[in-house]
Amino acid sequence: MRDPNAKRILVTGGAGFLGSHLCERLLAAGHDVLCVDNYYTGDKRNISHLLGNPHFELMRHDVTFPLYVEVDEIYNLACPASPIHYQFDPVQTTKTSVHGAINMLGLAKRVKAKILQASTSEVYGDPDVHPQTEDYWGHVNPIGIRSCYDEGKRCAETLFFDYHRQHNLRIKVGRIFNTYGPRMHPNDGRVVSNFIVQALQNQPITIYGNGDQTRSFCYVDDLIEAMIRLMNSRDEFTGPVNIGNPSEFTILELATKVVEMTGSKSEIKFLPLPSDDPTQRCPDISLAQKELGWAPTVRLEQGLQKTIQYFAQLISKSVQKASGF
Ligand code: NAD
Ligand code: UDP
Repeated sequence: MRDPNAKRILVTGGAGFLGSHLCERLLAAGHDVLCVDNYYTGDKRNISHLLGNPHFELMRHDVTFPLYVEVDEIYNLACPASPIHYQFDPVQTTKTSVHGAINMLGLAKRVKAKILQASTSEVYGDPDVHPQTEDYWGHVNPIGIRSCYDEGKRCAETLFFDYHRQHNLRIKVGRIFNTYGPRMHPNDGRVVSNFIVQALQNQPITIYGNGDQTRSFCYVDDLIEAMIRLMNSRDEFTGPVNIGNPSEFTILELATKVVEMTGSKSEIKFLPLPSDDPTQRCPDISLAQKELGWAPTVRLEQGLQKTIQYFAQLISKSVQKASGF
């Protein structure tokens, strides 16, 4: 018999990297999951193993258009997350964040659903406060090449809080810091996937700038746990709350680690730093620890090991396919 606590849950961007892991976890917890995606950066292969599950439903839809469904909870993840992808069609990126938020908030209002926004550390821009706490308002260029993403996500947060104040909507805003793991797209352009794919193929490791810039990397399983805890947190807790791993590394340290762990012959190649690339990024996660009882548990080496394994399999499958095996 069906669990009486089972909910109908909409995951937008559900065929993407984080979305597919989230759909899996929600199904495993006994919920009905509706995955909505326009496959801009996502891939049906990420969720193909869920298609036989009678509690899983897949819908091709672009969140910049209204959506009429009946659900209890909404996780709003639809938005390209990698700089090369969100900069490819910047107008569509802003539309996805802003119109997408309006449409999903409108849906939440109509059906009285609780709604969670996958926001980002990018709302802090190139921060002059370190590590970043949620009360820091950020240092964001409104007209640069990253602005379509950063400002789109900032506007989405504004909309979430206005719907909360004006319409009493139950909202949750999680500010996600760099997250990595299996099912990142191999050509996604983000640093962890780039370095692993390059190292496994003994190709040069492309460091932008001198590699002094820092990031903190959260393994996907930790991140999904935090998102689910955030959705289930007490109603009065809206966030915004930082979710990420506070262990900070330079990009050069990451490159060295990946080369070591893969036993690669790759050399390091320094390329120009893209404009507005943040120099430092690290979350203060005190609020998540207090409100969600959450802290990441997977160390970088452990997470990298699993991610390297995933990409190694992916590469060997595509080599076999190309050679007709
Ligand atoms: P992803 O690109 O793998 O997933 C995004 C998904 O959204 C894709 O499946 C894509 O096809 C879909 N999508 C894009 N535009 C859409 C639209 N208009 N309508 C419907 N679907 C659309 O990226 P991800 O890493 O899984 O990120 C998921 C969410 O988390 C994003 O909102 C991103 O901004 C946020 N986030 C991710 C990270 C990270 O490090 N992975 C960090 C901060 C924030
Ligand atoms: N980066 C790099 N080489 C790459 C890809 C990225 O040196 O092949 C750098 C990038 O300039 C940035 C950091 O790694 O300083 C993280 O980049 P990513 O695109 O993963 O995420 P974001 O900049 O959004 O944090």
